[in-house]
Amino acid sequence: TKVLVSGANGFIAVWVVKDLLEHGYAVRGTVRAESKATHLLNLFKREAASGKFELFIVSDITAPGAFDDAVKGIDAIAHTASPFHYKADDPSEIIDPAVKGTVGILESAMKYAGPQLKRIVVTSSGTAVYEPGATDAKSTGVLNESSWNESSVTEVREKGRAASQWAKYCASKTLAERAAWDFVEKHKSEISWDLTVLNPPYVFGPILHEVVAPDALNSSVAAFYEAIFTNHKTPAELAHTQAGWTDVHDVARGHVLALEVPAAGGELDAVNELKIPGVYAPVGSPGAGEDFQYTTRLDNTKARTVLGLEFRDKRATARDSVHDFCARGWVY
Ligand code: NDP
Repeated sequence: TKVLVSGANGFIAVWVVKDLLEHGYAVRGTVRAESKATHLLNLFKREAASGKFELFIVSDITAPGAFDDAVKGIDAIAHTASPFHYKADDPSEIIDPAVKGTVGILESAMKYAGPQLKRIVVTSSGTAVYEPGATDAKSTGVLNESSWNESSVTEVREKGRAASQWAKYCASKTLAERAAWDFVEKHKSEISWDLTVLNPPYVFGPILHEVVAPDALNSSVAAFYEAIFTNHKTPAELAHTQAGWTDVHDVARGHVLALEVPAAGGELDAVNELKIPGVYAPVGSPGAGEDFQYTTRLDNTKARTVLGLEFRDKRATARDSVHDFCARGWVY
């Protein structure tokens, strides 16, 4: 069974590739440039040598037909490639690759993958369900996969370039996920496969992808790193920062289970985790955030029941992440 993983050099994707290879799958990854292939081919040297791991270059995921070649003969697809950064000036810089990349891979799959393709998993995000406006102190709202983050889309529509970077990223994820469900609905009589979407909150854990220095970290691990090693926020501010998070091992497992579990088809199978207090508590402030007020909960029932995912202990994620930083000499 061969699985296509788009954006194979990303933080989450490399863990997905690793999990797939360890579970006997063959993997075809896509990366944007030859220069992004070397590290991966080294990391999965044995599998590359035996033909179990190969890479295709897809230089522009927004180009029509970008994935036409990459999808050929594939049994399943994990589409992870999408920008996650806070640097977009015009919102289209982040929304276009998210939406066009997602619709493009579905379209290529429909036309060229072949009838053996059974399942496509799209890495959406907790930000596509998490409504910032719903987080006022009085809210007792429980959010799950049926919730949508509409307010970020509205903010981007109304403010354009002046919208916050967070809203631009969130909108890209809401719009991309919605476009995926719309595509499947519109073409359901023409496709042999079904769709599953994952909605993880912040994903933390050790990194396998190529990162030369802390300032080049992917956005989520950068947030974890900065909380510990830089002093942008006071311990009190950090202790009261709200964010759900989950472990990259679990997110990778979630992707693979979402490809395997028949009942996951057509579902939004969240890999959401409950918000916990003190997530960002810097070292040296044990117990900070104990007075934290839960305002919003992300419900991970589907991930646990439909996928059978067992989430790792938060302390294990934190420990593994810090050990990884230490091993790289990134500790100050
Ligand atoms: P990374 O930044 O590590 O990886 C992103 C991947 O997408 C890379 O392969 C990157 O390629 C590719 N990519 C980014 N922008 C473009 C573009 N314009 N055109 C083509 N490819 C592009 O991030 P993550 O691994 O964290 O993110 C992977 C997916 O998971 C994304 O869809 C993200 O939204 C989602 N996600 C992440 C969460 C997290 O906390 N990390 C939480 C929830 C969802 P290149 O290296 O060439 O830029």
